[in-house]
Amino acid sequence: MAAVRARCVLLTGSNRGIGLELVRQLLGGPQPPTHVFATCRDPEGPRGKELRDLASKHPNLVLVKLDVANPSAIVSAAKIVEGKLNGAGLNLLINNAGIFTPVSLETVDSEEMIRAYKTNAVGPLLMAQAFLPLLKKAAQDSREEGLSCNKAAIINISTLLGSIERTPESYFKPVISYRCSKAALNMLTRCQALTYGKAGILCVALHPGWVKTDMGTQEADLTVDTSVQGLLSVLPILSEKHSGMLLNWKGKTIPW
Ligand code: NDP
Repeated sequence: MAAVRARCVLLTGSNRGIGLELVRQLLGGPQPPTHVFATCRDPEGPRGKELRDLASKHPNLVLVKLDVANPSAIVSAAKIVEGKLNGAGLNLLINNAGIFTPVSLETVDSEEMIRAYKTNAVGPLLMAQAFLPLLKKAAQDSREEGLSCNKAAIINISTLLGSIERTPESYFKPVISYRCSKAALNMLTRCQALTYGKAGILCVALHPGWVKTDMGTQEADLTVDTSVQGLLSVLPILSEKHSGMLLNWKGKTIPW
């Protein structure tokens, strides 16, 4: 199985669930990146312990404090990462952080809608804006033709629940704020692909499957290990023909 060969990777929400497993498997892969920037809200606190344990074994793992719902924190994190990269670019930005609240049309309110948008849609938008110079640098420095995750890419971790066409089959879980914010993330991905593609940056939304994490619960179909193995095997096959699309963890296209 081909592995992604991105040299510098940054992830959000990487202290637990899918984000933490992505960090683990990237570090344990056949060609680990030279830099993995694992960002999370509290790397120093109890919720950052597993990341700190990993960092003590992997000198290429750098922990960076980052709350994606805080625009100034995003700008500060981009400056820190730029300093650590020492003139190199960022090949792969994985916008993984997300929140999920079980609200219906009857129970959702404006605060919850705004909270979900801030983390699930506005966060990825601002992350891409702040890290764009570093992604462009990676694209310019690459000798690879076309678009790829090895060269420069933004991967937005989205969900099937954000697909408008597929809503009827899963609407027994209304999760209004989550669905609407992830549908916004899907639209953002298409807009990013059309804009950033010209600079050599691939932009794709990926659905990890229904995964046993705090968000997915233990009732979910997939272990986090299986989902992340799938996601990491999809990354190397992505090219310009996938840019601006929503794909699942097996690489199958999901309709908008
Ligand atoms: P978890 O709830 O297990 O983990 C969520 C992660 O996001 C945590 O690291 C959390 O950090 C972080 N996070 C939340 N808000 C912020 C914020 N404002 N700034 C930075 N980090 C934040 O979820 P999963 O691992 O299951 O989900 C990861 C991604 O996959 C999400 O985008 C989710 O929507 C998507 N997904 C998950 C599915 C599933 O079945 N699990 C299905 C489809 C999509 P902290 O510990 O600080 O709270």
